[in-house]
Amino acid sequence: MVTIGLYQNQLIFNKMFSILIVDDEPYNFDVIENFLTHPDYQLHYVASGQEAISQLEVFEPDLIMLDVMMPSMDGIITCQKIKSLPRWEKVPIIAVTALATKESLARCLSAGADDFISKPVNRLELQARVRSMLRIREQYLQLKAFNTKLELTVKQRTARLRSMIFQDTLTGLPSRSFLLHKLAESIRNGYYSFALIYLDCDQFKLINGSFGHAVGDNLLLAVAQRLRQHLGQNDFLARVGEDEFCFLLKGIKNESNLDSFIQNLMKSFATPFSVANRDIFLTVSMGATLGDKVYRKPEEPLQDADTAMYQAKSRGRGNYQLFDRQIHLEVLSRLTLENDLQTALEQEQFITYYQPIVHLETRKVVGFEALIRWQHPRRGLVMPVDFIGSLEMTGAIIPVGMIILRQACQQLWLWQEQTHNNLFMSVNLSVRQFACPTLVGDIKRILKETGINPAQLKLEITETTLMENKENVLAVIEELRKELIQISLDDFGTGFSSLGSLELLPVNNLKIDRSFVNKVNGKSGGHHVLEAIIAMSQDLGLLIIAEGVETTDQLEWLKKTGCQFGQGYLFSKPLPPSEIESLFLRKQELELKKSN
Ligand code: C2E
Ligand code: MG
Ligand code: MG
Repeated sequence: MVTIGLYQNQLIFNKMFSILIVDDEPYNFDVIENFLTHPDYQLHYVASGQEAISQLEVFEPDLIMLDVMMPSMDGIITCQKIKSLPRWEKVPIIAVTALATKESLARCLSAGADDFISKPVNRLELQARVRSMLRIREQYLQLKAFNTKLELTVKQRTARLRSMIFQDTLTGLPSRSFLLHKLAESIRNGYYSFALIYLDCDQFKLINGSFGHAVGDNLLLAVAQRLRQHLGQNDFLARVGEDEFCFLLKGIKNESNLDSFIQNLMKSFATPFSVANRDIFLTVSMGATLGDKVYRKPEEPLQDADTAMYQAKSRGRGNYQLFDRQIHLEVLSRLTLENDLQTALEQEQFITYYQPIVHLETRKVVGFEALIRWQHPRRGLVMPVDFIGSLEMTGAIIPVGMIILRQACQQLWLWQEQTHNNLFMSVNLSVRQFACPTLVGDIKRILKETGINPAQLKLEITETTLMENKENVLAVIEELRKELIQISLDDFGTGFSSLGSLELLPVNNLKIDRSFVNKVNGKSGGHHVLEAIIAMSQDLGLLIIAEGVETTDQLEWLKKTGCQFGQGYLFSKPLPPSEIESLFLRKQELELKKSN
C-alpha cells in the first residue's frame, strides 16, 4: 500500500517516481530540474525521441515530459511510438510545447499525450501538472496491483473448486466428474480400446445401517485401498457413487482381455476387511462395457456399465456381467411395453373380441370365447401374444383379467336379452390370477352385478396353470365349481396331462388344442390320439370343444368322431360385439321368431 503525505504543501508518496525529460535543448532540462526538486522525484534526461524510446527499459519512467519541437523525430511521433508499446502505453506523457495553438494541442492529444504544458514553463503550473499526472499514475498502478492479486485469487479458487469437483473427498480418488472428463477425452480422440468396469458393493446400506456411518466410511476407505492395488500404469479408478467405483482400463480390445482382471478383482473380495476391530465380508456386483464407436457422449459407456452391473446384481450377490447391447434393447423394449400397458390400463384401452362357439351339427352359436385385444392409440389393434406375457409378468393381468370378465358378462347379459337364447361365455383365466386372494369373491361379485347365471360362465384354464401351485389352484377351482361356474381345460394336449389323468381333473369342459385339429385333413385315419381323447371325454361326461377348426374336412371328421362343439375360422374369427350381432345373433333371432 502506498501512503500519501505532505511535503512543502505538495503531495508526497513513499516511493520514488522516475521522470524522463526528453528535450533537444539541455537548458530546458536544467529549468525543469530546478523546478522539480521534490525528494521523491528522480529525473532523467535524454536529448532525442530515439534515445527516449531506447532508454525506456533503463529508466522505467512513471512520467515522460516530451518536447514537441525536436529535430529528426519530433515529440508527436515519439509520443505515438511510445503509446504503441504495450508495456509503456499507460505511462502518462506531458507534451511541452512553445506552440500553444489549439491545433498543435489537438495534435498532441490525438498522438496520445495525456496533458501539455507550454513554454516557457511556469514553476507552479509544472509542479501542479506533474503532481496530478503522478497521482493518476499511482492510482493506475494500485488498480493494476489489485487486479493482479484478484486474478491470482480467482485462479487459486478455481483450482480448489476443480479439485473439489474432480476429487472424492473421502477416498481421495478421482470423482465421477473426472471420470466423465477422461471418457470424453477418450471419445474425442477416437480412442475406443478401453473397458469401463462399474463396481457396486452389495448390501452396503445394511452395513451402514448396522454398524453406523463411521464404520461405513472406514470400510469404503479400505475398499478403495484394495481396489487401488489392481491399478495398472494407464488405468484409472474413480469413486462414482456412495458405494460405487469405476475402473477405466486402457488397451482393452475384447472380452478376453478383461477376464483375468475381473477374476482377480473378484478374488480380492474373498478376504474380509478389518474395520473398527471387526472382520467385515463384502461382495461386489460388477458390470462392464467395452469401448465402442457408437459412444458419442461420456455418459453413455458409464450408463451401459451401470446397466450391466444391475443385470449382474439381479442374479444375486458377487456376480459379473458384460454389457450386451442386444439384451439391453430387449430389456428396454420390455420396459417400454410394461409402461405402455400401465397407461393402457389407466386409459381403458383393453377391449374384448368374441369368437363364436358353435354346435357342429346345427352350426348354431351356443356361446363365445372372450378374447382380449389392446386398442393401442398408435399401433392399432394389438393381439394378446404381444402383451399377455408382460401383463402376467407384472401382475397387471389381475386387474385386466377382471376388466375382460366384466365386459364379457355385461355383453352376455345384453345378448341374452336380445336373443332369449341360453348362451354361454368362456373367459380365460391366467395362472397369476389364481394367486390373487380375492379372485373368487371378485368373480362372484361381477356375476351378481351383471346378473349372469354362474352356470353360463365357463372359465378357461390351461394344463400348466393346473400343474403350477396345484393345491391352491385346485382349492380355487373347487370353490368356483361350488358356485356352479363351469371350468374348461384350455389347449388340451399341449401340456403334460396324460389321457389317464383326465378323470382326475376337476373340469367340465375340454378344449382340444388347435395343433391337434390342424393335423386332421381329408384322409381319414392317423388321428388316434384325438379319437381317444374324444372317446374318453364322452365316457367321463365332459363337454368337448375343438379349437381352430378351419376346414370342412376337419368339421366333418370331428362330427363323425363324436365331438359336439367347435370354434375356428371356418365359423368366424374373433369379432367385436357389433359384428357378432350383425353376422350371427340377428340371424338366430329371426330363425327363432320364424320357428315360433
Ligand atoms: P386361447 O384361449 O387358446 O384362444 C384361442 C386362440 O386361437 C385365439 O387367439 C383365437 O383367435 C385363435 N383361434 C381361434 N380359431 C382359430 C383358427 O381357426 N385358426 C387360428 N390360427 N387361430 C384360431 P388370440 O385371440 O390371439 O388369443 C391367444 C391367447 O391369448 C388365448 O389362447 C389365451 O391363452 C390368451 N388370451 C386371450 N384373451 C385372454 C384374456 O382375456 N385373459 C387371459 N388370461 N388370456 C387371454
Ligand atoms: Mg381360451
Ligand atoms: Mg385355447
